[in-house]
Amino acid sequence: MASDRTPPTYPKFTYVEDERRHRKQRLAAAFRLFGHFGFDEGAAGHITARDPELLDHFWVNPLGMNFKMIRVRDLLLVNDRGDIVEGNWPLNAAAFVIHSHIHAARPDVVAAAHSHSVHGKAWSALRRPLDPLTQDACAFYGDHAVFDDYTGVVLDHDEGKRIAHTLGDGKALILSNHGLLTVGRSVDEAAWWFITMERSCQAQLLAEAAGTPVLIDQEQAEKTAAQVGRSGWLSFQPLYDWIVSEQPDLLDE
Ligand SMILES: [Zn+2]
Repeated sequence: MASDRTPPTYPKFTYVEDERRHRKQRLAAAFRLFGHFGFDEGAAGHITARDPELLDHFWVNPLGMNFKMIRVRDLLLVNDRGDIVEGNWPLNAAAFVIHSHIHAARPDVVAAAHSHSVHGKAWSALRRPLDPLTQDACAFYGDHAVFDDYTGVVLDHDEGKRIAHTLGDGKALILSNHGLLTVGRSVDEAAWWFITMERSCQAQLLAEAAGTPVLIDQEQAEKTAAQVGRSGWLSFQPLYDWIVSEQPDLLDE
């Protein structure tokens, strides 16, 4: 018997309310997945989603709420001055400083993700871009940068601007001695780039610990980047479907 499930298709919206609900559902699911993968570290880490109507506002996680418990109704809406417009929990100040400058500098970016995942922060201490060691790592080939200016918790707006400037038009940033940051044209994309970048850091750490890895050559890396570097949205769909079936309360409004 054939599958009675339907393959994922990129969503289209007639009403902004539906698009907002969709983004919030994807955002809550992304937090559950980050929690599932162990990307949380106490109260650190944030994923933001630009509001589809109020384009200088974004949705973000409440400071100090466990990623594994976040529901749609828990998300905060924050304006361009860092005021909480919707929600009743405090906001992570570093989340506002980092993400507000990225959302302002990159109109194409719907979502940005950052956390202190173990392999990402271990790799960030080397202050080097990822090499094209694997097919998956090629998603970041020529499309990420290293912000090599660690000066403590990011609370200074000049630093937020420099982070956004270093990101340029790329999909990811290695924040030295800190962790990874990824962006996407959807929450799905930003979350997937984060998940696969963390694993690419793990793979390179493992490979370098075991011996001398052989890099994919430039021509093949560029070709592969054009292939896997565009599949972020689709790659997130199996994870989204699974987390919603396992933890349907994440959709609570
Ligand atoms: Zn951080």
